Amino acid sequence: MEWETVIGLEIHAQLATKSKIFSGASTAYGAEPNTQACAVDLGLPGVLPVLNAEVVRMATAFGLAVDAEVAPRSVFARKNYFYPDLPKGYQISQYELPIVKTGKLIIALENGEEKEIGITRAHLEEDAGKSLHEDFAGMTGIDLNRAGTPLLEIVSEPDMRSAKEAVAYMKKIHTLVQYLGICDGNMQEGSFRCDANVSVRPRGELALGTRTEIKNLNSFRFIERAIAFEVERQIDLLETGGEVVQETRLYDPDRDETRSMRSKEEANDYRYFPDPDLLPVEISADFIEKVRLELPELPDIKRQRFVTELGLSAYDAGLLTASRALSEYFEAVLAELEGEAKLVANWVSGELSGRLHKEGLEIAQCPVSASDLAGLLARVVDDTISGKIAKEVFAAMWAGEGSADEIIAAKGLKQITDTGALDALIDEIIAANPNQAEQLRAGKDKLLGYFVGQVMKATQGKANPGMVNQLLKQKLLGSGKHEGSS
Ligand code: ADP
Ligand code: MG
Repeated sequence: MEWETVIGLEIHAQLATKSKIFSGASTAYGAEPNTQACAVDLGLPGVLPVLNAEVVRMATAFGLAVDAEVAPRSVFARKNYFYPDLPKGYQISQYELPIVKTGKLIIALENGEEKEIGITRAHLEEDAGKSLHEDFAGMTGIDLNRAGTPLLEIVSEPDMRSAKEAVAYMKKIHTLVQYLGICDGNMQEGSFRCDANVSVRPRGELALGTRTEIKNLNSFRFIERAIAFEVERQIDLLETGGEVVQETRLYDPDRDETRSMRSKEEANDYRYFPDPDLLPVEISADFIEKVRLELPELPDIKRQRFVTELGLSAYDAGLLTASRALSEYFEAVLAELEGEAKLVANWVSGELSGRLHKEGLEIAQCPVSASDLAGLLARVVDDTISGKIAKEVFAAMWAGEGSADEIIAAKGLKQITDTGALDALIDEIIAANPNQAEQLRAGKDKLLGYFVGQVMKATQGKANPGMVNQLLKQKLLGSGKHEGSS
């Protein structure tokens, strides 16, 4: 039997506010345990939550960016459950009336086709605290710094059909929330994570199979592996006469497997009811329009513009717009090198991104600024140095040795464009290689490359390659006229 995989994701994006969703405590990451939890976050009696207006703006921006309906009225509800890191005994979330409903997102598939993924809803909620199991022998510590941190939970339709599609969707949302400036996207710190709901069904069957939910995946690699494992596990079960049990599972990256955590709770286990401490959130049409006007250029639109306006390939445009910071770096370099989009794109997505990746750095930590890179590429454009030498200069810039011009001067890397100097050198090289010269003249064209190589070697790569080619052809083959040569 052929099986079809069905996946729906619940993504938790931590909203990048300075203070918590219902209190004035700081959301900064990494503070000493319990130093950023006030009476509201601790759930002390007699305190009242006050909604942080910024989270409403952020959720609205997200809703608009995914073509969703931003609800004029949404309601906070209490989701009741007991857990040590939840001092109130309930989490404030949205249930029946979320702030964002029925949106969509287009993802690119590996075969180059596009696919629309439905977004069921996105709702606001508070995060819980953290249990620390490792710090105290035989005991568990509770850190409530994270309690009350604002989250936007983005729930997809069960529209994905493979682990790769799920990752593509997750990456796309990751890019989007960072463009919008509503989430820092830091997955190691848990600012962006997801629960993956996975089921399988016989291909052609319309009804959905029983799903399991894999909790708290915080890396793209883990999502892909966890889903792959889970799909195999479910198929094995079904093919050997077993049944999939609806449950919550955890992925263990060390063993590369998922394990049962608890049986799935139903919504009615949570005794949801509207939180009497909070008013419904009412959003005016004017407010929505104002947020719409303030939206930045979104990644899909920017990617299109890079293709139509700058003439980049769809592939390059995709690479450069994968992160807002990278696209802005690219645009800053290009602003100083008008008309050189292709050259700048090659450098930013090639040499620069390669180095960043190798050293595990983000673009924000790049030691070569956009204007420094523009300074280097300007010397390629005006033929002061070749593309190859530019890489050497770039490495020196990366190491902090100065600007492109300083390095070119200090290392004597200026390209030799003086025909007279090259002329004599080429004559010498031809004289020193009579056999190769003879064979080349007899038709062994490949040897031209040999001569170019010799000239480059003698000049430490500083000869202008175009000029060398022309001079060699002219001298050895009697063709390839070059202006200024006699
Ligand atoms: P809950 O809130 O109890 O986890 P929801 O019905 O809101 O359940 O669904 C949560 C997520 O699970 C959604 O992303 C949805 O698309 C996905 N989902 C629901 N049923 C299935 C299924 N049979 N297979 C895969 N994903 C599913
Ligand atoms: Mg769920």
